[in-house]
Amino acid sequence: MDSSHSEELQLLRRSVAEFVDREIRPHTMEWEQQGAVPRELFSKLAALGFLGVRLSPEYGGGGQNFWFTAALVQELVRCGSIGVAVSVMAHAEFATMLIQRGGSSALQDKYVRAACAGRMIGALGVSEPDAGSDVAALRTRAVRDGDDYVIDGAKLYISNGTIADYITTAVRTGGPGHRGISIIVVPGDCRGLTRKRLRKIGTHAADTAELHFDHCRVPAANLVGAENDGFRLIMAGFEGERLVLATIACSHARLMFEEARKWGHDRTAFAQPLLGFQVWQHRLADVLTRIEAAQTLTDRAIDQYVQGNEAASLISMAKLYATEMALDTARECAQLYGGLSHMEECLMGRLYRDSLALTIGAGTSEMMRGIIARANDLTA
Ligand SMILES: Cc1cc2nc3c(=O)[nH]c(=O)nc-3n(C[C@H](O)[C@H](O)[C@H](O)COP(=O)(O)OP(=O)(O)OC[C@H]3O[C@@H](n4cnc5c(N)ncnc54)[C@H](O)[C@@H]3O)c2cc1C
Repeated sequence: MDSSHSEELQLLRRSVAEFVDREIRPHTMEWEQQGAVPRELFSKLAALGFLGVRLSPEYGGGGQNFWFTAALVQELVRCGSIGVAVSVMAHAEFATMLIQRGGSSALQDKYVRAACAGRMIGALGVSEPDAGSDVAALRTRAVRDGDDYVIDGAKLYISNGTIADYITTAVRTGGPGHRGISIIVVPGDCRGLTRKRLRKIGTHAADTAELHFDHCRVPAANLVGAENDGFRLIMAGFEGERLVLATIACSHARLMFEEARKWGHDRTAFAQPLLGFQVWQHRLADVLTRIEAAQTLTDRAIDQYVQGNEAASLISMAKLYATEMALDTARECAQLYGGLSHMEECLMGRLYRDSLALTIGAGTSEMMRGIIARANDLTA
């Protein structure tokens, strides 16, 4: 990265940090109770150019590389609720980058433009009740009928599912396996689409939903890329998604560490601060060491990705290591809070329960290990 590039990045980072202080942090508890961020968050982020940082300038985006997405995510996470970053990324990165990568110019003009402007909210619908890790087994079917596709099936755990104006949806248009999958953009107001918000144990500020498609008729022009070429597009999209999750995990862990350090200085037991006990000095020293290691690995994966090099294995390592590290960090830091860590009113308590989804979303730790094993000649 040249120095002008890094100046731009610092500027973005500072602007997002100010935005988080002013527009997000004061409202996170309210949004967590509502189970979703408000629509205005998207229009406010768009007005400052934050929503489309990596999207095409032709359609109102910033045309920047993933370092800018990472800076945005790192600052968003500091609001203390992972759900906010998940909701923004499900829209800008997961749902919309896929349309940008494979969609016709008409589709991009409609959806990427509206996404950058914060006029429409996007969701990515891949996971199903009977097909999560095994994407190639998905069953939601789209059948061509004249100028339309007719879609029947269901999706599960879809971020932004109930608030989305469009769902970038993985469907089966061909035979079994990964060769029969396509991507179709389903408008949120499509007749036959029903959606239900799910009650979760964490990431409450992100709307997560179950979707049902009952004879949903969608224009064939909403097909993204070629018919039956969807699996390739999903896999390409996963690289950005996994880097987002690794970045969230590193920043989330750092926030937990900083909170725990403050608490360790302030809280006394047996007439001394908790950090007077060497056991806690060492435990938090280990936590910080692992955060630095995860950040370094994540930065290396981002660097390879941004340079356009083959990075699937490194990205999987970053996603695996950073999200498992965040979960370990949550356990260590919450332990220092004693009973308070179990209270909803306590930030550490909320950070702890938000950590639980990181090793699941965008591919589980087991899937990451499988990719690393295959890429590094570890299979028999
Ligand atoms: C908060 C949240 C938000 C999400 N947002 C979205 C979204 O926006 N869009 C979307 O499409 N999906 C989303 N998901 C779904 C997520 O991608 C899936 O939950 C994930 O891919 C795992 O699928 P599954 O839940 O069906 O688990 P399963 O695939 O049933 O796996 C269950 C367990 O078995 C393990 N397992 C499976 N296969 C193997 C194997 N071959 N070897 C070893 N172990 C294996 C898994 O690692 C896991 O531990 C979200 C999930 C969560 C929790």
